[in-house]
Amino acid sequence: MTPEHVKCLIIGSGPAGYTAAIYAARANMQPVLYQGPQPGGQLTITTEVDNFPGYPQGVDGPKMMQDLEEQARRFGTDARYGMVTSVEFSANSGPDTPHRVIVDEKHEITADSIIVSTGASAKWLGLPSEMRLNGRGVSACAVCDGFFFRNQDVAIVGAGDTAAEEASYLSNICRKVYMLVRRDSMRASRFMQQRVQTKENIEILWNTETLEVLGDEGVTGVLVRNAVTGEQRTLDVTGFFVAIGHNPNTAIFKGFLDMDENGYILTEKGSTRTNVPGVFVCGDAQDNVYRQAITAAGTGCMAALDAERYLVTLEMQEQMMV
Ligand code: NDP
Repeated sequence: MTPEHVKCLIIGSGPAGYTAAIYAARANMQPVLYQGPQPGGQLTITTEVDNFPGYPQGVDGPKMMQDLEEQARRFGTDARYGMVTSVEFSANSGPDTPHRVIVDEKHEITADSIIVSTGASAKWLGLPSEMRLNGRGVSACAVCDGFFFRNQDVAIVGAGDTAAEEASYLSNICRKVYMLVRRDSMRASRFMQQRVQTKENIEILWNTETLEVLGDEGVTGVLVRNAVTGEQRTLDVTGFFVAIGHNPNTAIFKGFLDMDENGYILTEKGSTRTNVPGVFVCGDAQDNVYRQAITAAGTGCMAALDAERYLVTLEMQEQMMV
């Protein structure tokens, strides 16, 4: 059977993917977008989003993603349920050699251009109570949710640059920040370590593991244990932040797209171009620094513009071949 062919295939449905879709649809690229395993992406597990420009009263994460989807569909985006399970990108793509992807392990599609917007997933501790209270006091993004804990006591787990940066961010908003470090040292850069160690309202608890997040409707505390002494104690906090790293959702592109050692896809400076012509990447799949909805959306726009320019060149090549 001849595979379905599309001009522009978008993989992923977070702010990056839908923004790329809005621009691509308006440029008449007839984008087909596959939503992936979590339609709407990470924002669908957030409660209120207060820092996305244009929503003066804030907006629920799921509602914002619905709005983005609706806007993309309004201009003709074909947004579909389904997950891209494998890809075969041709290194010398051109009019006769489009890229191939397989959806849900059976449906083959060829595409002239591909926009990867598969995002990243926060790592979690894996405690049932952490999952149960997710979005109700448990968060993996201090910049997104810290504001809801203004003048309250919170805890943050992790000891890398992200945890140190987020602890520092929270210390400017919250009354007290407990930083839960599982070993007797931190992985964060020396500068960031100094920063958290000199903040008066940050208390670092070394050799400390989290046993449980407490609370029914919202977080009321965290039960922790000192791994050296075995002593357990409850921290009276209303917010619990997890900052133990992220995993970019890029495994299916390994071997095709150049990545850094953590799996983030590399782009040419100042663009969304990858090492494969016709394949572009935006959002958290290529960004381990900013990771915000607005920055993801910005790079989604860039990816659509880059893909549009690529398609124009491809069309010119096609015409020359006729
Ligand atoms: P990292 O992988 O660097 O650090 C993760 C931290 O979480 C480690 O301290 C680790 O502890 C801890 N951790 C992991 N699993 C658990 C667990 N189950 N329980 C308790 N603690 C746990 O991730 P980051 O997100 O901090 O950073 C990712 C990359 O991004 C790094 O290269 C970092 O330098 C970079 N970055 C740079 C920034 C900047 O330059 N401004 C800002 C933010 C990040 P342990 O040390 O014991 O393994």
